Amino acid sequence: VKLGIPRERREGERRVAATPDTVKQLAGTGLKVLIEAGAGDASGHPDRDYTEAGAVVVPQLDISAVDILAHVRPLDPHTAAALKRGAVTVGLASPASELPTVQALTAAGATSFALELVPRISRAQSMDALSSQALVAGYRCVLEAAIRLPRFFPLYMTAAGTVPPARVLVLGAGVAGLQAIGTAKRLGARVAANDIRPASADEVASMGGTFIRLDLETAEAAGGYARQLSSDAGTRQRQLLAPHVAQSDVLITTAAVPGRRAPLLVTRDMVQGMRAGSVVVDLAAESGGNVEGVVPGEDIAVPTADGAGHVTLVGLKDPASAMASDASRLYAKNVANLLALMLRDGGLVLDFEDEVVAGACFTHDGEVRHGPTADLLS
Ligand code: NAD
Repeated sequence: VKLGIPRERREGERRVAATPDTVKQLAGTGLKVLIEAGAGDASGHPDRDYTEAGAVVVPQLDISAVDILAHVRPLDPHTAAALKRGAVTVGLASPASELPTVQALTAAGATSFALELVPRISRAQSMDALSSQALVAGYRCVLEAAIRLPRFFPLYMTAAGTVPPARVLVLGAGVAGLQAIGTAKRLGARVAANDIRPASADEVASMGGTFIRLDLETAEAAGGYARQLSSDAGTRQRQLLAPHVAQSDVLITTAAVPGRRAPLLVTRDMVQGMRAGSVVVDLAAESGGNVEGVVPGEDIAVPTADGAGHVTLVGLKDPASAMASDASRLYAKNVANLLALMLRDGGLVLDFEDEVVAGACFTHDGEVRHGPTADLLS
């Protein structure tokens, strides 16, 4: 069985779907690994490391020659159409927003797996790329804020006077938010956080943050995810958060509701109510934004209401890709662990009785198997 690893084509993408480590693991199961030259360059893995690990480096990956294709970003329709009949693909696929690719995959009779659809059960944690990449993003966003803040994060007591610690507010305390809290704490900031899932209060405390309790309906849905707040509750949440936002030197937003646009938590007025020099980093910028006016990939200077200066509003883009080495280390492991479920005695065995295999699969045998995507295509 041949596994192909392409060089990622999307602009700005620096990660790779296999590292020399996972190549060793996969080659050990009897796979022949073909990797496109330069695929690991941006994440710190030169071709020779792959060769040493047992892969064959090819100048250009012939998509039609591989049985399995592992990737980071969703495939483009052209690549999907070039797959051999019955090939398997594994990677981040966002099927509901990549309909032309889904159509090409079904036309090619491919069996495609989206890492985003891996069920979040204990057994599948080692395959959970949403969590591994959210961890990277949560860490990174604090560093992005820290370098833009014209102040220290930690408390300093010096001969020249005392510098108070920065106040950091994190909105949305899922995987990325908790990591942001931990990172800001390690840098010495005073950290507060809010989430609409009641269970998150203990998690925030365990990372060293102070949970802000708001007098709101709770909004926990199946699988430990949030559900969307009613429009009244959303307005009320923004009102209740405003004074906390105004007091913060750094605001980090990570709120998401599966399958929906990111909830708007912070209006322009709220940003303008912050002190001059404050920094806002919106991790949800690419999915609609938690902060009004955010633009993915850009820093915007928002004038403060008191005329004293401006707040820097950062629309974070591809934060995991900015830390391509460790992001790839974790991502490649997620891919290899999912593939391991499908490999037996050097052969590919797809067991759709397995809830992880069945849950992650979105096309098979010419059919779309992911309900929401199928609905969009019908
Ligand atoms: P996510 O990326 O979907 O959302 C991020 C956070 O935003 C969530 O905590 C959510 O509650 C919060 N949020 C949504 N609307 C909000 C609002 N209006 N105000 C404030 N916060 C809001 O979530 P995630 O990071 O993927 O994690 C979601 C849940 O899944 C968590 O309970 C997490 O512990 C759980 N989880 C379980 C596993 C597993 O068991 N394998 C793995 C990962 C995560």
